[in-house]
Amino acid sequence: MATNKNFEIAIVGGGITGLTLAIALYHRGINIKIYEQAPKFGEIGAGISFGPNAVAAMKKCHTGIYDSFEKVCTRNSWPSKSKVWFDYLNGYDKSLKQAGHQKAEFTITNSVGQNGVHRAHFLDEMVKLVPEDIARFGKRLRSINEGSGGKLVMHFEDGSEAQADAVIGSDGIKSTVRKVMFGVDHPCAHPSYTHKYAYRGLVPMEQAVEAIGEERAKNSCMHMGPGGHVLTFPVNHGQILNIVAFHTNKDDWPDYQRLTRPVKREDALSDFSGYGPNVIQLLKLTKPDLDCWAIFDLGDNPVPRFNKGRVVIVGDAAHATSPHHGAGAGFCIEDSLVMATLLQDERVKSPKDLEAAFTAFDANRRERSQWLVQSSRFISDCYEWQAPGVGDDFKKIEHEINTRNGIITEFDIEKMCSDATEELTKTLRQ
Ligand code: FAD
Repeated sequence: MATNKNFEIAIVGGGITGLTLAIALYHRGINIKIYEQAPKFGEIGAGISFGPNAVAAMKKCHTGIYDSFEKVCTRNSWPSKSKVWFDYLNGYDKSLKQAGHQKAEFTITNSVGQNGVHRAHFLDEMVKLVPEDIARFGKRLRSINEGSGGKLVMHFEDGSEAQADAVIGSDGIKSTVRKVMFGVDHPCAHPSYTHKYAYRGLVPMEQAVEAIGEERAKNSCMHMGPGGHVLTFPVNHGQILNIVAFHTNKDDWPDYQRLTRPVKREDALSDFSGYGPNVIQLLKLTKPDLDCWAIFDLGDNPVPRFNKGRVVIVGDAAHATSPHHGAGAGFCIEDSLVMATLLQDERVKSPKDLEAAFTAFDANRRERSQWLVQSSRFISDCYEWQAPGVGDDFKKIEHEINTRNGIITEFDIEKMCSDATEELTKTLRQ
């Protein structure tokens, strides 16, 4: 694609953030390269869902992203639940004697309902929207410095180097770009453990229907309980049920270098002992050998700024959140849209303009995305009946979810972009 800009942007990291950003920039005629540490684009085999704000941001980033999402997305099976985000159930209901139909305590809806995608399938579709030679694989960033010609020089672990006019770090929660910006000793260089971990499973839908009944298996549910919660939603066009079981634990995570550890299904069953029959039946459907995922975030030590000179961080690198609002990746796509809007602006021409654009990005994105990190921690405690002032009062839990989901989903994406453009007007003057 012909470029109408006189600069080249390096994107470090090709996850959901890096790829949506690359697609948005490429189709706006901006010269980019992705540097990814892995040998190819890839995502884990787990489900992920997106709210109305994320869907609107996808469409505006590039319609192909939205088409990719539609192609692989699975919604609740029952038409009566097309706007249901989750039915919330008492997962600890002692009166329920056997697995099967269970009445919801309350239901949370939004304009797009629940829509789950298999992460890897979504990524595979999106990859088709950029030319292959846009990415360099096996490039694990180590450091960045300013070169003699004013370019930024990236140094990779394999000993190679590459240059660009600006570097956008979309390298995830353990971001090297963040460490480069603030130093390895800065508190924000290291994410913190939220004292929650999650067991994840993908199970055949027929088995789930047999175990807990059609309504609960084929439509999204959140099973709440003391110190734990289990969410389920269908993926793979209803063939598979995605199960994520969260548990709160006071212990430290044993190895901060590794965010997953192999466990047994019995460990999950032991953590959820005392829960009702639907939760137990769901866990029994998972594989005997499971991965347990530590939930880390940037909540204890938020990043003071998202930009420094011509280096900027986006997505989880900037605001990694626990997943309890189901909105982390959606906010990553909002980031991609704001960044694309700023870099596309005809006033952004020179390396100095890029600095102004990144300052505008920080002004536009930091408050909202860091709010999500804190709110996600709080809402998880609501699901687990341990939030101060809320406890196990279902009316209060419902109120908290609706209030906070409103901030996330009823968000004016057009205004977000026009605000960013206004912020750019200010920062270009500075
Ligand atoms: P990543 O996906 O971490 O990608 C970073 C990329 O950078 C990787 O490809 C990596 O290989 C590469 N990289 C890293 N370091 C380097 C380096 N030094 N050099 C070069 N490349 C590098 N969000 C939702 O919106 N909805 C959900 O339902 C949802 N569910 C979730 C469930 C769980 C259990 C978790 C943990 C998160 C969930 N999220 C959800 C959040 C979502 O997964 C993240 O916000 C999103 O995937 C972050 O994408 P990213 O591209 O910023 O980072």
